[in-house]
Amino acid sequence: MLPDKSGYFSEFGGKYVPETLMYALNELDEVYKKIKGSRTFREEFLYYLKQYAGRPTPLYFARELTRKLGGAKIYLKREDLCHTGAHKINNAVGQALLARKLNKKRIIAETGAGQHGVAAATAAALFGMKCAVYMGREDMKRQALNVYRMKLLGAEVIPVESGTRTLKDAINEAIRDWVTNVRTTHYLIGSCVGPHPYPSIVRDFQSVIGEESRKQFLAVQGKLPDYLLACVGGGSNAIGLFHPFYKDKVKFIGVEAAGRGLKTGRHSAPLSKGSVGILHGMRSYLMQDSGGQICETHSVSAGLDYPGVGPEHSYYKKIGRAEYVSATDSQAIDAFRQLCETEGIIPALESAHALAYLKVLAKKTTEKQTVIVCLSGRGDKDLDIVTKKDKY
Ligand SMILES: *Cc1c(COP(=O)(O)O)cnc(C)c1O
Repeated sequence: MLPDKSGYFSEFGGKYVPETLMYALNELDEVYKKIKGSRTFREEFLYYLKQYAGRPTPLYFARELTRKLGGAKIYLKREDLCHTGAHKINNAVGQALLARKLNKKRIIAETGAGQHGVAAATAAALFGMKCAVYMGREDMKRQALNVYRMKLLGAEVIPVESGTRTLKDAINEAIRDWVTNVRTTHYLIGSCVGPHPYPSIVRDFQSVIGEESRKQFLAVQGKLPDYLLACVGGGSNAIGLFHPFYKDKVKFIGVEAAGRGLKTGRHSAPLSKGSVGILHGMRSYLMQDSGGQICETHSVSAGLDYPGVGPEHSYYKKIGRAEYVSATDSQAIDAFRQLCETEGIIPALESAHALAYLKVLAKKTTEKQTVIVCLSGRGDKDLDIVTKKDKY
């Protein structure tokens, strides 16, 4: 099973970090390997997911949306109903428990829209740990409510002034903090990105999404679905849904953010339009120019606004295990509105990218087929954007 011992999924992944972090990554790898097979750790993790985060989340048959679109039957995996409003809490709780095993009393995290920052601050409050969240100054302005939430939860929010003052710069600063405070601090990374073993740790914690979906779908349909569909930022909700179905005859589709359009260059779609390079400690598809400089990204949804992608997705692309497509800002906003009106569910703009692809899928499928869509989060955080940006 991948990754291999050095953390590679074929040529993707690895650990491209300063020497000072090698010890911490190796320690993390060792401890994680031990607890991964431990029943008591698994039980503790599932206890908090159930009693605290509200799992299992429902797998809901979207009858009205299916009727409207007229293709495969649509099932929504309702991660929007998780505590704090998205799938991010699964990973935050898992890694906070892991930090406890490592005897680390301080957590640091990066955040773009603030969703992961809120999840990390929540887990830190729950387990009585100190928490610092790095956030670009620009993002702090755009997501003021989440900044306030993190502070209420007892976290320190540290503004990042470098680069474009957004997520990629926040990750750089978090890594810098980690280098300095590595003995006392666990870096709680928010997606299946970064140096080994993070991509596989985050995948494993998020796999609860796919494990539940598989069981729930089998219980109602007596067979497996034909398609799985999820949006891809760093790729954690997608890999969490896909991974437990890896060996099954189920098609995987990941949807990246095409922003203003793939041809405009103003997008966040490294798998569709990027090339292979190194960023944040991993080798993967990135948005970079011919000189290897990371390009500025754009998406209406802050959670997808990242120039890289988890190495396991690069691998799935290479071997053809998953298909990667994209949806523009305006397609996502249309799908956002449609789900509100047809099902009474306000999705996150990130999730709306996956929903946007249902229109395309409907044309290729019949009512005999089925698709599970990961509804990665709820859209309360996006109301400002959707109501202001009628121009999209
Ligand atoms: C952060 C976020 C995403 C994108 O992250 P992935 O790691 O690609 O899952 C998607 N949906 C929501 C609701 C998010 O908060």
